[in-house]
Amino acid sequence: MTDTVDEGSQPYDTDASNQEKLDALEERIEILDTQNEEMRDKLLDANAENNKFQQKLERLNHENKKLKQSPLFVATVQEITDDGSVIIKQHGNNQEALTQVTDETRTSLEPGSRVAVNNSLSVVTDLSNETDVRARVMEVEESPGVEYTDIGGLTEQMNEVRETVEMPLENPEMFVDVGIDPPSGILLHGPPGTGKTMLAKAVANQTDATFIKMAGSELVHKFIGEGAKLVRDLFEVAREHEPAVIFIDEIDAIASKRTDSKTSGDAEVQRTMMQLLSEMDGFEERGEIRIIAATNRFDMLDRAILRPGRFDRLIEVPKPDAEGREKIFEIHTRGMNLADDVTFEELANEISGASGAQIKAICTEAGMFAIREDRTEVRMTDFHEAWAKIDADEDTSEDEVSKTFA
Ligand code: ATP
Repeated sequence: MTDTVDEGSQPYDTDASNQEKLDALEERIEILDTQNEEMRDKLLDANAENNKFQQKLERLNHENKKLKQSPLFVATVQEITDDGSVIIKQHGNNQEALTQVTDETRTSLEPGSRVAVNNSLSVVTDLSNETDVRARVMEVEESPGVEYTDIGGLTEQMNEVRETVEMPLENPEMFVDVGIDPPSGILLHGPPGTGKTMLAKAVANQTDATFIKMAGSELVHKFIGEGAKLVRDLFEVAREHEPAVIFIDEIDAIASKRTDSKTSGDAEVQRTMMQLLSEMDGFEERGEIRIIAATNRFDMLDRAILRPGRFDRLIEVPKPDAEGREKIFEIHTRGMNLADDVTFEELANEISGASGAQIKAICTEAGMFAIREDRTEVRMTDFHEAWAKIDADEDTSEDEVSKTFA
C-alpha cells in the first residue's frame, strides 16, 4: 500500500507544527500589541492636536464674530420722556432720535449722560462712568504751587488780578457792604509764554482756591459734540470745589468772531460759546467762583464775550521789558550754581523780545551746556550759547510754520 503513513511520527509532527503556529501567533500578537501601543500614542497625539485646533477655531470664530459686529456710536441723552423713552443726540452728526431703553438702563440715565448706541439707535450701554471725560479735559489742582514771587515783572497786571479775583474771594462782605457786585471774570491777553497761566495759578494759590483749567482748543477739537456739556461740567466741578478759580485757556477757540459759514463744526463751537455765556450770566448764584480766561488772539474774540458782566477786566500781559527779563532770570536761576561772571542785567539786554517761557528755557539749556562739559557751575558763555540755540530753534520752527501755511 502506497498510502500508508508513518504512524509513529504523526503526533510529533502535529505537535511541532502546532507549537510553530502558536509561536507565530504569539509573535504576531506581540507585534500587534506594539502596533496597538503605537496607534494609541498616535491617537493621543492626534487628540491633543485636535484640541489645539479646536481652541484655535473657537478663538477665530470669536474674533470673526467681533469683526462682523457693527461698531457702536456715541450719543448724549437729551431728555427722558414721561413714558420712559429717551431722546438721544448722536455725536458727530448731531441727529436727534427717540429710542427705547430697558428699565434697568433707564434708571442709570439722566439728561447729559453719554451712551453707546447701535445701528438701530438702541442704547447698548451707559458710558458715563466708564469714560470720565471731565478728568481728561480738566486739570484740577487743589493748591497749584505758584506764588506771586515766582512771577517776574507784571506788577501792574498782578495788582489788577489780585484786586478783581483775590479781594472778592477773601472779603466778599466788603462788596456786600458797599453794595456792588464783584467783577465776575477777567480776560488776560498777550503773546504765548508770558505768564498768564502763572498769574491765574498764583491767585488761586493765594486764596486757597481750587484751580480748574480747561483748554478751549481741546473742547472743540478733541471732544467734538460735547463742548456745551463740558462747559456745564466745568462750572459744576467748580461749584463742588468752592472757592475755585476757573481758568479757560485759549478762549479764542470757543469765542471767536462768528463766521458766516454754516458747517456743523461752527455750529458746535457756537453752542459751546452760548453755554459759556449763559453760565457766566448766571454768575450771581455762583458764589465763590472766579473766572479767568486767556488768549493769544484778542483780535479774534467775539464781542459778545466782552460785554459788561462777563469779562469785566481785560488785562494785557505783554512780553517782559528789560527789567522784567532780569527779574525772570533771577527767578529761574534761584537754584542754579552760577559763576561770578553771570550778570542778569547784561543777559536781559541781550535777549530783547524773549518771553518768560523762553527765559526759563535759556536757563535750563545753559545748565545743560555746563553738564555737557562736566561742570557744576554755569557760566555767562553757557547762557549765550543757550540763547543762540533757542533763538535758532525758534527761527526754524517759525520757518516751518510759514512753509506749512505757504
Ligand atoms: P500760553 O499763552 O502759551 O498758554 P502763558 O502766557 O499762559 O502761555 P505760562 O504758561 O504762564 O504762559 O508760562 C509758561 C512758563 O514760562 C511758566 O511755567 C514759567 O516757567 C515761564 N514764565 C512765563 N512768564 C513768566 C514770568 N513773568 N515770570 C516767571 N516765569 C515766567
